[in-house]
Amino acid sequence: MTLWPHLPVDPEETLLSYADRLSMMHTGRCMERLVRDIGINTEHFISGREDAVAVFAEATGLSVEDLQMASIRVFQRGASFRGEDISKTFLTPRTARYCPACLAADEHRADRRFRLLWGFRHVSRCDRHSLWLSDSPTANATNMRLALGTSPLAEGVRADEPTPDYLTWLRGRVHGGGQADNPWLVGQTLEQILAASEMLGAILEHGHRVAVTRLSPAQTEEATDIGFSIYSEGREAVEEALDTIRQTSPATAVQAGPLAYYGKLFDWLDRRSNAIDPGPIRDILRDHIVKHSAVEPGAKVLGVEITERRFHTLYSLSAEVGIERPRLSRLLRKLGKIPRDTTERKNGNMVFEAASTVPLIKAFNTAIPLRDVPEYLGATKRQVEGLYRAGIVQPLVPRTGRGSVRNVVFARDRLNDLLQRLDAFPEFEEATGENLHPVAFACQRGAGPFEEVFSDVMAGRVRCYRNPEKSGIAALYVDVNSAIAMKISA
Ligand SMILES: [Zn+2]
Repeated sequence: MTLWPHLPVDPEETLLSYADRLSMMHTGRCMERLVRDIGINTEHFISGREDAVAVFAEATGLSVEDLQMASIRVFQRGASFRGEDISKTFLTPRTARYCPACLAADEHRADRRFRLLWGFRHVSRCDRHSLWLSDSPTANATNMRLALGTSPLAEGVRADEPTPDYLTWLRGRVHGGGQADNPWLVGQTLEQILAASEMLGAILEHGHRVAVTRLSPAQTEEATDIGFSIYSEGREAVEEALDTIRQTSPATAVQAGPLAYYGKLFDWLDRRSNAIDPGPIRDILRDHIVKHSAVEPGAKVLGVEITERRFHTLYSLSAEVGIERPRLSRLLRKLGKIPRDTTERKNGNMVFEAASTVPLIKAFNTAIPLRDVPEYLGATKRQVEGLYRAGIVQPLVPRTGRGSVRNVVFARDRLNDLLQRLDAFPEFEEATGENLHPVAFACQRGAGPFEEVFSDVMAGRVRCYRNPEKSGIAALYVDVNSAIAMKISA
């Protein structure tokens, strides 16, 4: 059966709005009448069931694809639109708001169409006429005929700000003709993009405790616009916004949890969005939390267990390295991990990157003071001072120029590495017949300052052997003639 006369489908209209107009034209009665006549359960049709829409399409000779595109599937708890799971409040076929200028342009009362875009919670204005949407006298109808009844059209209220970008984007995505989405947005649903945008913008604009559902339509639009300009740019832009949100949070105590740092954004992603997958924003926030907070391994953050600690507090670091807090905080200051002018209270709020701080402190704990280095390396005091001045052995904490020499310490691991390299030189007997003497002897005979000869030895520029009777630097023997020749050529 094909209904005649034909009533063209407006691709911007909801299916339920169209069905009512079609029914009025053919039966003089409301949508339910036509649907029942076709033999469709009206409840099924109103809730957008695919099978009901398909039967309707067949009966009316219309494209089933077009009708499904205009249909909002409503379930007991949620809804879906064009295959995307959505919240019931995100997009509804109920005709709560409308643009008076659009309806005036529809001419005849029977032609008034409820536009899909007006059903989106984030749409507060008509982008065609720059008017704020007006409230319908009857909010829960499914067509403008019943929504308005005999009431006159509302006076349009002009929206002064230019049309926000997200609205243009939304129209393009729903009705086509817009720019292609960037790869970041392509994989995300309408609700994921707009809800994340709204939440980011609302916190940046109204603070951490903002109640997004209490914002006025104009405030919602503004927040979504601010958030969309960030969110649509991708992950890095979102991370920067999270930096700002974290820095401007009212949280001061180190024990403050992510709720204090990220406010309603965390609240939303932690439990409010369980029904609908919020998209990548949840992973981005989790990474941000783990990256900037001292999260205990094993703790669950936004539904995922954190296995590795990224940051320590002074407290957890103290437990990890076994140094009491006052000494640890002096040590961290010395290591440059705490600014010198920080107060004790602020120390408690600081976090320290586990990967770089823990090994540094452990190295410090087993470090060797300058006065013990000569014995450790098998060298004289003057030789070590020469190596130290030349930067060949480097202290654990880089010299700032002011610190006194007695505080200078050396990482045991690094000194051990050096000793291991010395051990690799061939033993003495293998090179009989050469004029072999200790390095210090060669220096006295004109081979140059010890640290220079040592550098040549380590770089392989002067052949060197090891006296197995001795250890460390004292065991190094060089051919005096070749060492002096090296000095002359240099
Ligand atoms: Zn309009």
